[in-house]
Amino acid sequence: MISAKEALKKLIEGNERFFSGNLENPNRCNIRRGELLGGQTPFAAILSCSDSRTPGEIVFDQGLGDLFVVRVAGNILAEEVIGSLAYAVNDLDVNLVIVMGHDHCGAVTAALNDDNKCIYVKSLIDKIKPLISSHNTIDDLEKITKRNVKNVVTQLKNLNVVFNNKISGGKLEIIGAYYDLETGKVDFYTDH
Ligand SMILES: [Zn+2]
Repeated sequence: MISAKEALKKLIEGNERFFSGNLENPNRCNIRRGELLGGQTPFAAILSCSDSRTPGEIVFDQGLGDLFVVRVAGNILAEEVIGSLAYAVNDLDVNLVIVMGHDHCGAVTAALNDDNKCIYVKSLIDKIKPLISSHNTIDDLEKITKRNVKNVVTQLKNLNVVFNNKISGGKLEIIGAYYDLETGKVDFYTDH
């Protein structure tokens, strides 16, 4: 398995191809499909929003078997999400986890507006609401979205034991990211 650093480089390069319009669309053929029958070795895991405009395989210009993607509205954490990422890290030997938020996120907007239409949506936005203070407005959408990403990264980093101590061992990197719907560019928060 490639290192976290090498994996991040592949994602950055793939995203550059995507936002500049020089797509390779790799690993999407019948041959690749056949090669993967024996198992998968994705080089990174992505936790991102379910928003139809933010599919990891497309924005990073990857194909079948390349990315282990967990998608849930608002890219929040839940036990099942943690379990999915733990599987990617511990069983598939993934060394890089990206938590990717995006602008104009409906889940974060709903949290800011306290707009809970049903108990299931409520359970979702309840994960984001603690990050919002009483003076925040919809104008703070980007700020809260980025705060949510950083909060999820911090929570995951506190799960070192769940990830077989790969974080303290220097093997696993968990990095936040923010996708811009207009430009197609992903910014990575490699400084925290
Ligand atoms: Zn979203």
